[in-house]
Amino acid sequence: MSRTVAVVGAGVAGPAAVLSLAAAGLTVRWFAPPVAPDHDPVGETLSPAANPLLAKLGLTETMAAAHRPSHTTLSSWGTAQLVDRNAILHLEGPGLVLDRRKFEADLRRAAGKVAERVVDARLAHAHAAQGVWHLSAESGETLDADALVDASGRSAVAARRLSPGHRADRLMAAHAFLDHRDASVEPTPAVLIEAVERGWWYAALRPNGTLSVAYFTDPDLLGETPTRDPKIWKALIDGTRYVGRWIDDAGFDPDTAPTLSSAGTTWLAAPAGRVEDAPWMAVGDCAAAFDPLSSHGMTTALWAGARAGPLLSAALDGDDGALDAYARSVTDGVHAFLDQRQRMYAMERRFADAPFWQRRHNATPADLAERAQDG
Ligand SMILES: Cc1cc2nc3c(=O)[nH]c(=O)nc-3n(C[C@H](O)[C@H](O)[C@H](O)COP(=O)(O)OP(=O)(O)OC[C@H]3O[C@@H](n4cnc5c(N)ncnc54)[C@H](O)[C@@H]3O)c2cc1C
Repeated sequence: MSRTVAVVGAGVAGPAAVLSLAAAGLTVRWFAPPVAPDHDPVGETLSPAANPLLAKLGLTETMAAAHRPSHTTLSSWGTAQLVDRNAILHLEGPGLVLDRRKFEADLRRAAGKVAERVVDARLAHAHAAQGVWHLSAESGETLDADALVDASGRSAVAARRLSPGHRADRLMAAHAFLDHRDASVEPTPAVLIEAVERGWWYAALRPNGTLSVAYFTDPDLLGETPTRDPKIWKALIDGTRYVGRWIDDAGFDPDTAPTLSSAGTTWLAAPAGRVEDAPWMAVGDCAAAFDPLSSHGMTTALWAGARAGPLLSAALDGDDGALDAYARSVTDGVHAFLDQRQRMYAMERRFADAPFWQRRHNATPADLAERAQDG
């Protein structure tokens, strides 16, 4: 009996799903669009909770080099002081600050070795009929599969037609990688989080010596768009107490205009199921994307991808119990996160009258679930 699964997406969740499906003895056909030469994904803090997932996927060895342990996180959150949260105090050990480009390339290479077929193009269309998925790429290539995994990130290229989507907020990120121009200063290997009136900042020294800087706010609070004019970006940086000082003191070049991306909490109402008897599941940001304050987007993507093999293997044998349990655990995880999110934002009271903070202080998880708009 044919047991073929198509996977869409080559970020974090996609390769994890490919590895898990192949380990479960399924034949994998993978839509992995080519990586642009300037591809440099943002988001480098990998939680220690990812370690057992990487081991399960056989990826521990690929993690040995290039990334650096994240021993120190400094934060000004709920207080004007900078508080040091040293990783020595965390029993699960330190997380990692990734060379994310290398991390994704390693995942991709490992998955490419076990996929039966790799389609080097974006999925354009998916539909199911009589228990079979029929998929076509933008390049015109077509393939069939018995089950489908959508790991296409927030774009949810197939899943958005299979389930309603919800969003809790419209958080966005302006982010840039700043070059280090002053060789006489050794920048501190740290992660810095700073709350400000209209949102919050994140800065992390990357293993390649550049500084990843992101400003999180709501679109209506951003003001003049900083993407074309580095002066606007510089003015935003100058409005911080600690991020700007780190950039100046350690000799980073702030004159790189940022790019903008969505960073809100969004999720699918039904992240797994069947269409015309053919099973499907969404994994990673496609199923549920979290406010990056959580720092667990990549870990959740690995977790969900690693579930794909056993879960779709059972579904293809006619047992949907695991598929249903997965859908429930994604939904439960979203509700637990919304609760945690409210408690995290509630710790910052200095800007309690400002719209950014009011929107997050005054929304209980129940309100959010009720008010959730279609994405
Ligand atoms: C500013 C910012 C900072 C963040 N910081 C962190 C952090 O510090 N730590 C952390 O753990 N998480 C962080 N995150 C979240 C993290 O980046 C995501 O959770 C993670 O990338 C999810 O992985 P994914 O594979 O689901 O999606 P993605 O990484 O978005 O990958 C999706 C893949 O699908 C592909 N794709 C899209 N459309 C198609 C199509 N039509 N056909 C085929 N393929 C397609 C894309 O090319 C891509 O390869 C951050 C997010 C943001 C926005």
